[in-house]
Amino acid sequence: MRYHSTRGGMPPKTFTEILLSGLAPDGGLAVPEAYPQIGAAELTAWRELDYSALAFEVLSRFMDDIPAQDLRQLIDRTYTPKIFGSSEITPVQTLESGLHLLHLSNGPTLAFKDIAMQLLGNLFEYALAKNYEELNILGATSGDTGSSAEYAMRGKRGIRVFMLSPYGKMSRFQTAQMFSLQDENIFNIAIEGVFDDCQDLVKAVSSDHSFKQQYHIGTVNSINWARIAAQIVYYFKAYFAVTRSNDEQVSFSVPSGNFGNICAGHVARMMGLPIRHLILATNENDVLNEFFRSGLYRPRTAGETRHTSSPSMDISKASNFERFIYDLTGRDAMRVRELWQSVDQGGAFDLFGSKLWAQTKDFGILSGTSNHAERISTIREIYRKYNVLVDTHTADGLKVGMELRGDDAHLICVETALPAKFSESIHEAVGFEPTRPVGYEDLEALPQRFERMPVDVSRVKQFITEHSN
Ligand SMILES: *Cc1c(COP(=O)(O)O)cnc(C)c1O
Repeated sequence: MRYHSTRGGMPPKTFTEILLSGLAPDGGLAVPEAYPQIGAAELTAWRELDYSALAFEVLSRFMDDIPAQDLRQLIDRTYTPKIFGSSEITPVQTLESGLHLLHLSNGPTLAFKDIAMQLLGNLFEYALAKNYEELNILGATSGDTGSSAEYAMRGKRGIRVFMLSPYGKMSRFQTAQMFSLQDENIFNIAIEGVFDDCQDLVKAVSSDHSFKQQYHIGTVNSINWARIAAQIVYYFKAYFAVTRSNDEQVSFSVPSGNFGNICAGHVARMMGLPIRHLILATNENDVLNEFFRSGLYRPRTAGETRHTSSPSMDISKASNFERFIYDLTGRDAMRVRELWQSVDQGGAFDLFGSKLWAQTKDFGILSGTSNHAERISTIREIYRKYNVLVDTHTADGLKVGMELRGDDAHLICVETALPAKFSESIHEAVGFEPTRPVGYEDLEALPQRFERMPVDVSRVKQFITEHSN
């Protein structure tokens, strides 16, 4: 399997070559040259596999330059009941006939990003060790991504994480989750500013190319192809969990921000998984819903991006969306480059009325949105009806999914975080606080380890220099 850029300007690369790099040199995203096609016989055989074995079948098709035995070991080490809470890894719960919840948030940070990130940690460690290299991951976080990355990279050889977060601006739970890590290779840097300041600092450090090279600075952003690939697995797993034969179709509803999760569903569908609809749900930051409703893709400015009760979906642009448009154009890199020329300059593109717009319906994507009040009433309703508590992100997917499913026989709603992470909204909905999973009860009482710093690039660089030898 070779990888290309969505903008056509990258010589074909292997999986390991794209694993540790961010954007392609031409500003595009790495995509496989073709999607492996899974036929009826394979689909039937895969139905019987446990999570690890299924993950190996899916991932070995994308990561074919890692020797099979090594990949198998990396996968087996990642998807264990100890890390993900059950041998099913991503269990499906049926609320009523035809309505299901796919639980993706039983990993260490209680959100779905762990599923891909835990594998990424092992893949990074493996690839670095092979080439005797090391990596200093520099990132900015307002919550979920940073902690998921830290829990995936903690204790990994050859890797250090320098994570910038806005001092005093994350929830107490999120802060405690990150700052309580005592691993020597994890550095939390609390910046006296807002999230945008943290992001600007990361950009400033990364644009100093000689510093970046000398200190092996890298990132773990949501455009990493390995993360998408790892997420494809649970679409297959969930399909097998709710159907008996390959003649049946299912639909998924996916709370979306950067288009990473639903992009994996899209790839699963392109590989031949019988998915009828992929229902994309956004919150008040509805860049993606706007596109799928009207053909207009218009990323927002930081000032237009709202802080909502489903904060992990508060995005101004959807970084993985370019991968979908690449497929929509029939893999026409020239066209993608054209479209993103205006996007990269802060503009937009509008496909309404074009041939491309007519073709979007071939991809089975429906979309909708929710506001805070609707999420709260969905949480309340789901609790009353099924005695199940869901978080605000999952509630968004449930609301939009149930609205748009039509006569779809199976709707699988993707659960992306545990309610325990968003106890304020849960309290607002049902009048009590959600219980925490075992081991997280006294999280805020644990000793915290972090470095507080002003918004100052030279201080960040100095800190990295002093702590990476
Ligand atoms: C990241 C995240 C999302 C959005 O997923 P994308 O892949 O960015 O679309 C939804 N819910 C939660 C809880 C998340 O952490």
